[in-house]
Amino acid sequence: MSSFIIALMIVAVAIAVALIWKNREDFPEQEIEETPEDVRVSPLLRGINYLLSDKPDRALQEMVQVAKIRSESAEVYMALGEMFRGQGEYGRAVRIHQNILARPDVSSELYFQAYVSLGKDFQAGGLLDRAIKHYAKALAIQTDHLPSLYACLRIREQSHEWDEAEWLVSRLEQVENASYHEHRAYLKAEMSKNALEQGDAPLAESLAIEALKLSPSCTHAHLLRLRQLIAAGEYDQALKQAELFLSQTKPEHHALLPEILMLDSTFYRQSGEAFMLDMWNQYHDVEVGVRWVEQVSKTIGEKEAKALKDKLGLKNLSLRHELRLAALDEVDTNLVQQAKYWRLSMKLFACKQCGVQVHDMRWQCPKCNTWGSMEPLQGSHIFGEEQHVS
Ligand SMILES: [Zn+2]
Repeated sequence: MSSFIIALMIVAVAIAVALIWKNREDFPEQEIEETPEDVRVSPLLRGINYLLSDKPDRALQEMVQVAKIRSESAEVYMALGEMFRGQGEYGRAVRIHQNILARPDVSSELYFQAYVSLGKDFQAGGLLDRAIKHYAKALAIQTDHLPSLYACLRIREQSHEWDEAEWLVSRLEQVENASYHEHRAYLKAEMSKNALEQGDAPLAESLAIEALKLSPSCTHAHLLRLRQLIAAGEYDQALKQAELFLSQTKPEHHALLPEILMLDSTFYRQSGEAFMLDMWNQYHDVEVGVRWVEQVSKTIGEKEAKALKDKLGLKNLSLRHELRLAALDEVDTNLVQQAKYWRLSMKLFACKQCGVQVHDMRWQCPKCNTWGSMEPLQGSHIFGEEQHVS
């Protein structure tokens, strides 16, 4: 018999004892034998018998009988559903909660709880459409239910349904009376990126501008806008945008700039390179320098990368930065080989909120779901100590 069944039995016995004890308090002892209360308890006891004989489905049937008699027993039932979900038995959890909805005598509060629980069951089981459907029914009863709004937002973001996500964030702003402007800016930026991928440049442009209006510090929107201006050949505007990027976004994100400035080789040669050099002379940000050299190696060539490395005079680097530069070296030494191998699997970014580390930049943290919280990993630790997500 699994430990889960044993745990379930212990809970069921505790509930049975509690119910019997409650009856004794509610009614004088001599009346108990004659009241329908026994009928309420006996299916529960039968359920416990089934649990003892390791027949959880028969036990569930008996629990249904309990719940049909007095609605307070439905709470027992809800608790069992939570336990099943907690154990990953989503099918059983769903059946329990659907049984509650099938009852004609249930209070609207219980209906509401059953819808929320079904939303959680389906979400945990990966059936996101059905989860959304049940959360929506819960929200139709209680329009400001925060856990359901958060759960729907999580699902919409997971499914990259940015319009729906933005509607939910606006709703959260109303319910919580709080500003979600930065969050909304990142969602608008994702919409802009989508529009760009679908070839709708004017829409992409207006969405990126809207995102920057919502939050001028939104790195994602800045870089998209910059990319759009370079692609449109508006180089002067692009340089102004790059200046704004440096003054409005957090310095930890500045290392993301070289990649964008190098997307178009004409722009890079004409103005991007000089801009990067000015930026280097002004800030001497080693992460920016190393990333710039990496980008040159990737898009122009090894020789040019080496020349840039010498020009920048990168020194007193952390072990991480030394290894990243060593991985670019053409000389076939053991260290270079090891560095190249390490570079392939190393995590480059970490979430400021929860510490999770990832290989490539992500605008939303895969663990804590915060937007814009990823920053380049620096310091001398090579692998980091926090949790990794690939
Ligand atoms: Zn995080």
